[in-house]
Amino acid sequence: MVQYKIATIASHSALQILKGAKQEGFKTIAICLKGREKPYISYGVADRIITISDYSEIPKIEDELLKENAILVPHASLVAYLGSKAVENLRIPYYGNKKIIEWESNRKIERVWLTGAGLRMPKVFDRPEDIDRPVIIKFHGAAGGKGYFIAKSLRDFRRKMKNHKGEEDYVIQEYILGVHCYAHYFYSVVTGEIEILGFDKRYESNVDSLGRISARDQFALPKLDPSYVIVGNIPLVVRESLLPRFFEMGMKTVEESKKICPPGLFGPFCLETVITPETEIVTFEISARIVAGTNPYINGSPYTWLKYDEPMSTGRRIAREIKMAIKENMLKKILG
Ligand code: AMP
Ligand code: AMP
Repeated sequence: MVQYKIATIASHSALQILKGAKQEGFKTIAICLKGREKPYISYGVADRIITISDYSEIPKIEDELLKENAILVPHASLVAYLGSKAVENLRIPYYGNKKIIEWESNRKIERVWLTGAGLRMPKVFDRPEDIDRPVIIKFHGAAGGKGYFIAKSLRDFRRKMKNHKGEEDYVIQEYILGVHCYAHYFYSVVTGEIEILGFDKRYESNVDSLGRISARDQFALPKLDPSYVIVGNIPLVVRESLLPRFFEMGMKTVEESKKICPPGLFGPFCLETVITPETEIVTFEISARIVAGTNPYINGSPYTWLKYDEPMSTGRRIAREIKMAIKENMLKKILG
C-alpha cells in the first residue's frame, strides 16, 4: 500500500497541519524558505524539511514531492506567494477543489456564490456618486488590508482618494458596524456532514489600537488612518443561539458551491462576518481553505471538544479526512 505523506508550505498554519498529520500517523514534509526553519525544527512537526530560496521554486521540487507520495495541504501562503495560475498547474496531489480558488479570489463571482446561498452581504456601490452611508474602500490585492479607508459621503471619498491616484481597482462596500466574527467550518466528503470547528476574531494593526486613543487625540494626530494588517488571532465562543444560523449558513454555502463549481467546496473553510446589534450576521468574505484563525486551537476548540472528545485541530481534521478517504477508497474524490 502507498504510504502517503503530508506536505505543506512552512508558514501560516503549517504547525497545526503538520502536527495534526503526525497525530493521525502520517510522515510530514515542510517546504520552507531558507532562514525560516527554526519553528518547524523546534516544535518537531516536520519529518523532513525541503528548503527553497523562493516560493517560485515550488514547481521545481514537484518531482521530489511526487517521489515521496506527498499530498499537498494548501493554505493562504500558497496562493498568495505562488499565484492562482501556478497553483492550478501543480501536478502533485492537492487536498481540495482547485476550481474554487477562482470563485473566492474574484469578488464579483464570490458575491454571486454567497448571495446565491442566501447569505446577507454588505451592499456594494458601483458608483461613488451613490454613496449614501458609511462605506469601506478596498483595493484589489492590498496585502493585509493596507490602504483600505472608510468614507461617509461622496465628498469624503473624493478627498481621501487623492492619496490613491492611479489606483483604479477597488470596491466600495457598505461599512457594517458590529463585531467581527470568523466562523471555521469543515465539510466532509466522507461523512457528508458540515462541522463547526471554532470561531476567532482578528487582531489587526493599527485598527485594534485606535480605541486606546481618545477622539480628541485622534483629531490631533495627523494622518491617523486605520489599517487592517493581521498580527494574530484571538479565540472566540459565540452566543449559543447564533449557532443554528451559523450551521445553516455553512451548509447553504456548500450546497450552492456544488451547483456553481462541482464537486463544490469541501474541507476547511471560513465565513468572515460582522454581527450587528440586531444580531444580523453579515458575511463580507469567504476563505475556501484553512484559515490561520484556527491556530489557537491546536489542542482543539470548545466545539471540537464537544464533537470529538479528543484534541482535534483543523489540521488534524484534514489529516483524518485524508486517512478516512484512503480507507474508504475515496482519495480521488478529495484531491484536486
Ligand atoms: P504569511 O505566510 O504570514 O506571510 O501569510 C500568508 C498570507 O496569509 C497573507 O496573505 C496573510 O495576510 C495571510 N495570513 C497570515 N496569517 C494570518 C492570520 N493569522 N489571519 C489571517 N490571515 C493571515
Ligand atoms: P478583507 O480584506 O475583506 O478580509 O478585510 C480586511 C478587514 O477589513 C477585515 O478583517 C475587517 O476588519 C474589515 N472589513 C472588511 N470589510 C468590511 C465591511 N464591509 N464592514 C466592516 N469592516 C470590514
